[in-house]
Amino acid sequence: MKYDLVIYNAKIVTEEEVFLGYICVSDGKIAAMGSDAPVYEAAQSLDAKGMLLLPGAIDTHPHFFEPGAEAREDLEHGTQAAASGGFTTILDMPNTPEHPVLDLEAFALKQERAERKALIDYAFWGAATPKNIEQFVPLHKQGCVGFKAFTVYAGSNYPFSDEYSQLKEMEKVASFHGIFGAHAEDRTLVNGFSNEHKEEPWSLAVHDASRPWIAELTAINTLLLYAEKTGCKLHICHMSIPEGAERIASARRMGVDVTVETCAHYLTLNYQDQAYLGTFAMINPPLRSRDRMERLWKYVLDGTIDYLGTDHAPYLLSDKLPPDGDLRKAACGAPEIDVAIPLILEEGVRNRKMPLQRFAAFTSTNAAKRFGLYPRKGILAVGADADFYLVDMDTNWTYSRKNSFSASKLDKFAHEGRTFHCRIVSTWVRGNAVYRDGVIKQKPGYGRMIRPEWDSQKEKG
Ligand SMILES: [Zn+2]
Repeated sequence: MKYDLVIYNAKIVTEEEVFLGYICVSDGKIAAMGSDAPVYEAAQSLDAKGMLLLPGAIDTHPHFFEPGAEAREDLEHGTQAAASGGFTTILDMPNTPEHPVLDLEAFALKQERAERKALIDYAFWGAATPKNIEQFVPLHKQGCVGFKAFTVYAGSNYPFSDEYSQLKEMEKVASFHGIFGAHAEDRTLVNGFSNEHKEEPWSLAVHDASRPWIAELTAINTLLLYAEKTGCKLHICHMSIPEGAERIASARRMGVDVTVETCAHYLTLNYQDQAYLGTFAMINPPLRSRDRMERLWKYVLDGTIDYLGTDHAPYLLSDKLPPDGDLRKAACGAPEIDVAIPLILEEGVRNRKMPLQRFAAFTSTNAAKRFGLYPRKGILAVGADADFYLVDMDTNWTYSRKNSFSASKLDKFAHEGRTFHCRIVSTWVRGNAVYRDGVIKQKPGYGRMIRPEWDSQKEKG
C-alpha cells in the first residue's frame, strides 16, 4: 500500500504508551503506526529525528471576536496562530462582540465565516442566557458542543444568568444531555468587593481583591449544587483557584458530572510577579497569588483538572489603556493561543515532570471525549483523523508577539521575550501540514466544522 505521508523516527504519544516509531497517513486518517522497522511506500516521508509527536491540541476556550471585532482577532488569523501553537481543533466561544450565538441565524453567520476563513477544524459553543432558552434545542441539533453562561455581567449583548436562570438553563440543557459551561464568579461578591476597593489606585493586586477567590469558589459551589439537582453535565470554564479543584473533586465523588478547564496564564503568571504588566495582564477571573498559582499545578498533574483552554482574547492598545486613563475600564483578556502549549510543555513537562500521556489528555484527549469528538479527534490511533504536531524539546527560542500570526500584534502582554526550550516545528490537520517551520501551509477555508457525535460516544460508554 502506498501512503500519502509517513513520519518516522518520532517519539509518539498514544493513550497506551510512548514509543519511538512511525505513523502512516492515508486520506487524512492515521492508517498505520508501529515501532518496528516500517515497510512502506509514501508520497511524502519525513524523518522526525526523535522529536515528540503529540495528538493535535483542542482548545476548549478561544475567543476569535468574529463577527464584531476582527481587528483584535478573526477566524483566519486566529486559526493560523492556533496552528502555530499546536492546536488542530478549536471550540469557539459564543460571546462575540456582534451576533453572539443566541440562535440559528447567528450560528449560520459564524459557520459561513469559518467555512471561508478557518485553517484548522472547529466547532462552536452556543450561548446560554435567560433570553434564548428556547433556542438551546435547535442549536444543539445544529451541532453546538455546549452552552456557555456567565454568572457575572458579560456585556450588554450577552445577558448574564442569575441563579434562577442558571437552574432553568441547566434543566433545559440536561433534557438533551448537553453540556452547560459557565464563567464562574459570584456577581454579588464581585460587586461588593469591587465597591470596597473602588477608591484604591488600580493594580493587579486590587483587581484580584475586587474579584477574590471566594467569589469564584461561591459560583462554582452553586453550579455544582444545580448540576447535582438537575443531572446536567457541567463544565467549569477557566478555573483559577486550587480551592475550586478540591470542591469539584468532592462533588465528583458524590456523582456530579462535572469537568473543569484551566488556562496557561493561571499556571504561569500571578499578580505579584507580573505586577509590572498592569492592565495587560488584566483577565477575569483575575491572576491570583504566586502561592495559588503554584498550588493549582497539583490538580493539573493529578488529573483533577481536565482541560487546557486558552481563553485567547487579544486586545488593542486603546482597549488596554483607556483614553480617559481609568484603568478599571480596560478590557479584560489576553492573547495566548500560540504560546499556551509551549508554556505547558515548558512548565509542566520539562520543569514539573508532567508525564507525556497526562499532557496529551490535558491538552487534547479529555476534551475530545467530553465534547463528542472522540475517537475521531484527540488521539493518535489507527482510524483517527491525522491531527498532530511535532515538537523539538531540545532547542532555544524567544517568543515575541510581533511574529505571531494573530490579527493584532500588540507586544505588551505577558510571555513577550520569554525564552523557551521546546518549540512546535509543524502542525498537521487531517494529514496536511497547516504550519511548518514558521510558515502557514494551507489556505483559509481548509478547516472543517466538526459536529459532535454524541450517540457513538454514548455507545462507548
Ligand atoms: Zn473566555
